[in-house]
Amino acid sequence: MNERDSEAVAAQLVAKGYSLAKSEATADVVLLNTCSVRDFAEQKAINKMQNIVGTARSEKRDQIVGFMGCMAQSRGKELMDKLPDVDLVLGTQKFHRAAEYLDELLNGTRKKIVDVEAEAKSEATIREHLLNGSAKTSVSAFVSIMQGCNQHCTFCIVPSTRGEERSRTIPDIVAECRELVSRGVKEITLLGQIVTSYGRHERRDERQVASDMAAASRITHHASQNSPFVQLLDAVHEIDGLERIRFTSPHPKGYGDDLVEAYARLPKLCESAHIPLQSGSDRILKAMHRGYTREKFLGIIQKLRRAKPEMGIYTDIIVGFPGETEDDFEQTLSLCREVQFDNAYIFKYSPRRDTPAAEMPGQVPQAIREERNERLLNLVNEIAARKYDAFIGRQVEILVEGPSKKNAARYTGRTRCNRIVLFDGSARHQGQLMDLKIERTGSFTLYGDPAILE
Ligand code: SAM
Repeated sequence: MNERDSEAVAAQLVAKGYSLAKSEATADVVLLNTCSVRDFAEQKAINKMQNIVGTARSEKRDQIVGFMGCMAQSRGKELMDKLPDVDLVLGTQKFHRAAEYLDELLNGTRKKIVDVEAEAKSEATIREHLLNGSAKTSVSAFVSIMQGCNQHCTFCIVPSTRGEERSRTIPDIVAECRELVSRGVKEITLLGQIVTSYGRHERRDERQVASDMAAASRITHHASQNSPFVQLLDAVHEIDGLERIRFTSPHPKGYGDDLVEAYARLPKLCESAHIPLQSGSDRILKAMHRGYTREKFLGIIQKLRRAKPEMGIYTDIIVGFPGETEDDFEQTLSLCREVQFDNAYIFKYSPRRDTPAAEMPGQVPQAIREERNERLLNLVNEIAARKYDAFIGRQVEILVEGPSKKNAARYTGRTRCNRIVLFDGSARHQGQLMDLKIERTGSFTLYGDPAILE
């Protein structure tokens, strides 16, 4: 999501006549887009900013510097107090104001700007794309469908940094997707904090209006039975020339039958799901305020695999949540063995300001968080490696994104289940859907050959 927000700001600046600098050292303006999900990310951004301003000062260079994104939102002016060289602090509902504020700072009308206010309709402003000819971006693009989060998981800072859920309209999103496809994009990833909650609040409002009108005119209103998110998938699926649709991130609660059925019904919807689990213990899931149980989660995985046996399933897990005992952690391990995730992002619990979990008793010592992190990582990697090896000898369809970053003679693409495949390709393959036979595996990579298909 941050990558996408940064791209939209860069595109906005390019449209205003700015150009992208090759490095921070040659830039007139440096904006750091920040994440607050864990303390580590915040410290990294602060250290980076200290380095940037320190270098500029020692080289006597004038440079406008700013923070944007979640840390800017949650810390606001405090960031300028800590780092007096910072000129701009731009909150998560203000990305679209970057160019206007930079103009004011550059022409000297204002010396410092902090804007972290909420702004109505800001969810519809993250829409500009660079597609700057860089191979990957022109084949595949992210489209932001909503902002904010209403889940209020007890560990998570996002509801306070991104605000309440606000969704764009289906016609607006489809217009952006159509435009991208007309510029050569073949794969679109729909983005939101909880994409499965897309349009729920707006629909409630619409229903109220519709039922008021129906009551007034005695007309019956037939709302679609599918969730607004599945209605959006249907609408995007109709775009000619679009080959693949993905989305991230959903909430397990959002996997109703309509979404599971969409995987079987919509050929462009890739068989890949990133479903955040967080913990395998019901006690911890409850303390996290996740709204599902271990059994419910397993039921979702079964339904998905029944609909699409090839489904790639990825997840997020937090270790060392307050009160997590060895027994709770063992339940996370056992659930991972049972589900056999294709891969997982594992996070050591990080207490966040103004979140209920930060005040909970039973904070787990850092050493135990580290130890559990390592044990879980070993298990997840072992399962993932076995699953990668199972691809050897199989035929897969990939969408070719462009030359590999590490070796320009190799081309890279992704399978429908979201695995990276490398092969000896050339520029003519870019943007193509190709069948390959997998010959060998590397670390989280498959190697394929188009020439040896049977
Ligand atoms: N849609 C996701 C969900 O259903 O929870 C939320 C995405 S969140 C921004 C990305 C991941 O960061 C979460 O899934 C969680 O595993 C991790 N995370 C969030 N807060 C955290 C914290 N306080 N400490 C450690 N990890 C955290």
